[in-house]
Amino acid sequence: MAAVCSNENITVLENHYAVEIITQHHLGIEVTRRTPDIECYGAYILNPVTQKIDTYLSKITLMATGGCGAVYGTTSNPSIATGDGIAMVYRAKGTVADMEFVQFHPTVLYNPKETRPAFLITEAMRGYGGVLRLPNGDEFMQKYDERLSLAPRDIVARAIDHEMKIHGLAHVCLDVTHKDAAETRKHFPHIYAKCLSLGIDITKEFIPVCPSAHYMCGGIKVDLNGESTIKRLYAVGECACTGLHGGNRLASNSLVEAVVYAKSAAEHSISVIDNYKLNANIPEWVDTGTLTYEERVLITQSVKEVGEVMSNYVGIVRSNLRLKRAWSRLDLLYEETENLFKQVKATKDICELRNMINVGYLITRQAIERKESRGLHYTIDYPKHANDSQKE
Ligand SMILES: Cc1cc2nc3c(=O)[nH]c(=O)nc-3n(C[C@H](O)[C@H](O)[C@H](O)COP(=O)(O)OP(=O)(O)OC[C@H]3O[C@@H](n4cnc5c(N)ncnc54)[C@H](O)[C@@H]3O)c2cc1C
Repeated sequence: MAAVCSNENITVLENHYAVEIITQHHLGIEVTRRTPDIECYGAYILNPVTQKIDTYLSKITLMATGGCGAVYGTTSNPSIATGDGIAMVYRAKGTVADMEFVQFHPTVLYNPKETRPAFLITEAMRGYGGVLRLPNGDEFMQKYDERLSLAPRDIVARAIDHEMKIHGLAHVCLDVTHKDAAETRKHFPHIYAKCLSLGIDITKEFIPVCPSAHYMCGGIKVDLNGESTIKRLYAVGECACTGLHGGNRLASNSLVEAVVYAKSAAEHSISVIDNYKLNANIPEWVDTGTLTYEERVLITQSVKEVGEVMSNYVGIVRSNLRLKRAWSRLDLLYEETENLFKQVKATKDICELRNMINVGYLITRQAIERKESRGLHYTIDYPKHANDSQKE
């Protein structure tokens, strides 16, 4: 941020909100998923002061809007992680891939008042000797993996999910009470302070934990230059799907991926930018509606519903039945929200809701299409990896 702010070639427009990317569609040309050479000419951006949507033309555009954990009811991600870039590119008919591969962090602090973001209980705590238990003190990881609480993230998350479902629990517990209290306070000062602020002394009591949506491996499909299937549009960071994570991300690879692909995207765009001109024919955004307080309630309720649908039906363990149910619920929300969007002034709230529904739909549809369990996608209807089934 310091480097960006001190670079006089960069203008930072804080709190401006990208609503749509601009393509041939905005010139009145029909664009479908089969249209070759879709191009990005810039973006329509909501100005937070005037509440107007301005047109920003560009020779090259880079999407770096982050992940989409906020489409789930509980997430470690900030509330802005509504998958805006992914949804914008999908609506513009770009390719979005691997959306079924949602990584769930096994342990965030269970706190119904704090779910977006939920407070992360680092895995280092299990590395330190923390043991996963049911609230009654029973251990359960021996049923799932010989590495017990140190099993990989996806296995632990599935085990916790299963235990919560069979026992009807809202959370399980992480226990570090057997460790030296002073050491615990020294190694995990933030977790200690956070839990204490909620009345839990982790040196004496179990920490209530549950899994939460954490990272999206999929996203806007890009090539080795970081360029999407829409020309003049690049994507980097969590919103991009480079394929580097495969179907299951190793912790900390996201930042490496972001840096490597940001460099590729920068180098490639510098080599081609002079081939492009600003497109002067792009019309201004047409926005004539009004938004009443009553309609805002409809938006907040729908946001809640998306979170519930995704957490309950498209979570850690999936099934055909649950995925189909999610699909029909999201379809209804989609219809309602698109109708509302046509009538009202575009605000950040309604744009985020639209994007969440789009992203929820993409996760659900791509999960339905994958008829196997692979990496982070696990379904009880196809519990095996496709390669394993083929061997039989
Ligand atoms: C609690 C936690 C711990 C993590 N720990 C690690 C770790 O140890 N190692 C690791 O490698 N990864 C880790 N990750 C993952 C990693 O932090 C993220 O993948 C990464 O920060 C994403 O960076 P990004 O630049 O793609 O997106 P972000 O950092 O999320 O930035 C996206 C930006 O785009 C803006 N934006 C979004 N939509 C719009 C819009 N419509 N218009 C305008 N602006 C918009 C947002 O406001 C935000 O500023 C962790 C993630 C979490 C949540």
